Amino acid sequence: MKNNQAVSVVSVDQRGYLKGIQLILTVSTDVGSGRGLAKLVQDESDGQWKAYTLYTALHNLEGHEEILGSRRPNGVAHGTVEDRKCWKDARIIEQEFVGEEPTVLIIGAGQGGLTAAARLRMLGVKCLIIDKNESVGDNWRDRYHQLVLHDPVYYDHLPYLPFPPTWPVFTPKDKLADWLEAYAKAMDLNIWTSSTLTDTPTYSSSDRKWSVTISRNGAFRTLHPKHVIMATGHSGEPNVPVFPGAADFKGDRLCHSSQFSGAKADSQGLKIVVVGCCNSAHDIAQDYYERGAAVTMVQRSSTYVMTSENGLGVLLRGFYGEGGVGLPKILMKAGLTCSRGLASARRCRSDVSRYHFSGVEKITSGFS
Ligand SMILES: Cc1cc2nc3c(=O)[nH]c(=O)nc-3n(C[C@H](O)[C@H](O)[C@H](O)COP(=O)(O)OP(=O)(O)OC[C@H]3O[C@@H](n4cnc5c(N)ncnc54)[C@H](O)[C@@H]3O)c2cc1C
Repeated sequence: MKNNQAVSVVSVDQRGYLKGIQLILTVSTDVGSGRGLAKLVQDESDGQWKAYTLYTALHNLEGHEEILGSRRPNGVAHGTVEDRKCWKDARIIEQEFVGEEPTVLIIGAGQGGLTAAARLRMLGVKCLIIDKNESVGDNWRDRYHQLVLHDPVYYDHLPYLPFPPTWPVFTPKDKLADWLEAYAKAMDLNIWTSSTLTDTPTYSSSDRKWSVTISRNGAFRTLHPKHVIMATGHSGEPNVPVFPGAADFKGDRLCHSSQFSGAKADSQGLKIVVVGCCNSAHDIAQDYYERGAAVTMVQRSSTYVMTSENGLGVLLRGFYGEGGVGLPKILMKAGLTCSRGLASARRCRSDVSRYHFSGVEKITSGFS
């Protein structure tokens, strides 16, 4: 690592007891370059400086630098061009893969699929996304009426095109759906909607390619991508428990949260049972409660409940928030602030907390 770009004295814990040095790094390896963030604290037992946190993100592959900034496309071909195509016509040919094939096929046009496609496009890799829904964003549009994202905007950026500073802290689901659709267009992503696989793809070891047949609005096309990315979501398939008597249920509706459209306006006096007690369950319980229903929540074991107001500070302060240390900006370019990236960021964060609460507070450095 070289070229330290910023060095500052910061609180490295959430409570502000532990001071340390924060470094924003430029990272160079044999395969590429990127950015990193390190927080160092001095161990008072031996005076050694130790890394409390180290994040790195690869931004560029050596020899395959992204097509942006000074490398951005020109957009126009000046002079005389035979068979000139305007941008719109060229986009249709590209999007339809007329006379050519994608190198990468991505299944799923949620945040994960869009992120992968945007990154691959910037590396010059031909890529097609398919999604079973009619429009990009329907995965959010089709969720319950009252849904507003549970994580704040600082946490949810997509690469290259962050949410503008006018964006609300918590994003309503239909607003996110529209943003995903706009993102796909702005980034010129090739997407076939109402499309899904007809069968399990087969792989030819000799060609090192997949054979994949896609059904798109009733028409079929077989493609031979080198890579298939499954971006179908970690919570896409509803898990509905089987319980005795369910078939005889005579109530208004019995459904999984993914099929729940919202409490009806005339829910006054209804008895509602919500099975499960995580975020969707609380949203649904609240929706019914606000409409006058009597709500019972069923849970298997105890739950840790924290308010959004306090919890977000504990979990995210200093990283994801107004005036955060810039970690999102560093990681955003690598697409690490969404889907799986979120999970790893969360893991890192809880590791930090574990370390913190297992006694690192005792290591007080001399900074004031
Ligand atoms: C109620 C709720 C609230 C949430 N709040 C947040 C939040 O605040 N912040 C956050 O980061 N995350 C939140 N999540 C998690 C959220 O689902 C994921 O972060 C995000 O949607 C993951 O994106 P993804 O692209 O991996 O999957 P998804 O968004 O699930 O996208 C998968 C896509 O694949 C498509 N697909 C699936 N199977 C096929 C197939 N066989 N053929 C073709 N297409 C297919 C689907 O139609 C869908 O469009 C929430 C989830 C729920 C349910």
